[in-house]
Amino acid sequence: MTDTLTQIVMGTHRAGAGATASTYRRLWREYMRPHAPLFALAIGLMLVVAATTTYTTLLLGPAIENMFPGETSSGMSRLVPGLDRVAPGAGGGEASFAAILWIAGLAAISFLILAAATWGHIVLVVNIGERIVAEMQSRLYAHIVQFDLARLGSIHSGRLTSSFLNDTNVVRRSVSTAVTEIFKNGVTAASLILVLFLTNWQIALIATIVLPLLVGVLRQLGKRLRKLTRNRLVEAGTMTSIMMESLDGIRIVKAYGQEGREIARMDVAIRRRQRLEARAQRVQQIIGPVTEALSSLTVPAIIVYGGWLAMNDALTAGELVVAIAAAMRAYPPLKSLSRMQLVLTEGMTAAQRVFAILDEPPSIVEAPGARAIETVRGEIVFDKVSFAYADGTPALRNLSLRVAPGQKAALVGPSGAGKTTVLNLIPRFYEASEGRVLIDGVDVRELSFASLRSHLALVTQESFLFDDTISANIAYGKEGASTAEVLEAARNAHAEDFIRALPDGFDTRVGEHGMRLSGGQRQRIAIARAMVRGAPILLLDEATSALDTESERAVQTALARLMEGRTSLVIAHRLSTVMDADVIFVMQDGRVVEEGRHAELLSRGGLYARLFHTQFAGGAQTPPVPSEA
Ligand code: ADP
Repeated sequence: MTDTLTQIVMGTHRAGAGATASTYRRLWREYMRPHAPLFALAIGLMLVVAATTTYTTLLLGPAIENMFPGETSSGMSRLVPGLDRVAPGAGGGEASFAAILWIAGLAAISFLILAAATWGHIVLVVNIGERIVAEMQSRLYAHIVQFDLARLGSIHSGRLTSSFLNDTNVVRRSVSTAVTEIFKNGVTAASLILVLFLTNWQIALIATIVLPLLVGVLRQLGKRLRKLTRNRLVEAGTMTSIMMESLDGIRIVKAYGQEGREIARMDVAIRRRQRLEARAQRVQQIIGPVTEALSSLTVPAIIVYGGWLAMNDALTAGELVVAIAAAMRAYPPLKSLSRMQLVLTEGMTAAQRVFAILDEPPSIVEAPGARAIETVRGEIVFDKVSFAYADGTPALRNLSLRVAPGQKAALVGPSGAGKTTVLNLIPRFYEASEGRVLIDGVDVRELSFASLRSHLALVTQESFLFDDTISANIAYGKEGASTAEVLEAARNAHAEDFIRALPDGFDTRVGEHGMRLSGGQRQRIAIARAMVRGAPILLLDEATSALDTESERAVQTALARLMEGRTSLVIAHRLSTVMDADVIFVMQDGRVVEEGRHAELLSRGGLYARLFHTQFAGGAQTPPVPSEA
């Protein structure tokens, strides 16, 4: 992982306001611009909202003037279309009930339009937000699944899950509400302030004098909120990680009676997040009262100054009411505008986390001219291969080995010797730092991933199954596998009988991780999956857990069948299973220290012989008689 990604995901990254602006530009370019027509429509509706809000405020003027016609009419009646026809002479210094009715009707219609536009606007905005989060999630998931194992190994899957679920939703909230609310409230506040200026510029000045103050307060709050948000999102990641980990290992948790510890661990994270959330809310919600306080100063000031002007006939009653109403109605949008700015800050912080993952380039990529090989005989060669994991521990040191086509080869050795690493390098899960890995004489780095991996079948220790039907799990081995192929594979893997005995046969769902099946059954399904694949090279990490004798025999027969006619490289944890191997590589400290067949190695009296005798010491297991002549 690059430092920035790790920092951002862990919450130690410090991005300033500049980064927020560039994040916002990128969000617009990549995610929002494609929905420009919808945005335009939303902005159109928002203008309707702003216009009707302003207009209904303005209507108060003529209404008042027709109720209390004074000497000084401001001519506000001009704002009311059709008034001349309904009440000829209205606004001319005479009270007119017809005019009042007409104005009330217009106000009602305007309010209805305002309501409809508000609804339409919200629906659109939510829709746009959902589209953006969907797009972001698609890209994020595709990117994460394509990460190589080195990348995935250095970051907890819970943190990635949290970014996928949580960060994207924070972005959605921010984009859909903040962006358009900012426009809507901005335009509404601006037009109400404009009304103020047109009514009386001195009153308008009084009303707006506090705005710079508000901006200053917002900047300070924004800074604090950025930091709080970062930490909150990190805590969300921690919580997801703990949840996933304890559910994954729930059997161990229970077996060791550690539920209490897990609960306490989660509680710590929950409380920490709760505290951060509370602090963030304190910061976010302070903006309401602050604007409230500011408006509590300005509205009385307008009343005092406006009242004085009116008493001196410098302002009509209508104008005064419009000014006060405009000032009062401008504050809620201003208030929400300020809060939205904070929501935006929050969204951009989340977007930065998403972008950090999306920007992480894969470290293992196909070579520019990567090619495909159609058929493979199945020769595997490691030529002076060295490899170290990200933390720098050397796992393979100058290792060379050759498995001829069709051979059954076994890797044995103490744990940590590097057996799994050898298996990982063949499909390029990891990349050798020195030396070459060759298949049929071709460097695996010259092959396309699709071609390379199509020649390999992998059976892992834990025989992973998806929460799907048995036939889907088997068919996973090969795209478009037919029912007949699935059936044949199941038969060859000695799985058909038990599958048929299940309530729904091949359509039985196996549950999470195949929980509803026994260990031996899971293994046979995994073997059937490898069979369907029909790949010439088999990579097998033998299960360590002992099965009962009968399942064990079924699994062994299935494996023997699977290996027929293929090159196989098997990590053997139990030496009883390697006696018939064509070649055994004994590994230690990342090197092959001995190589040969079982009998040769045993008679050599080296590491293999020692491992063999340890495993069968004390009569725990009887060493089986080597099968070869
Ligand atoms: P084996 O399969 O023989 O038990 P491995 O190939 O798993 O051995 O491990 C070889 C060495 O590499 C060990 O020292 C192990 O600690 C280290 N190692 C294995 N996987 C990783 C990993 N993902 N990150 C860092 N070190 C690892």
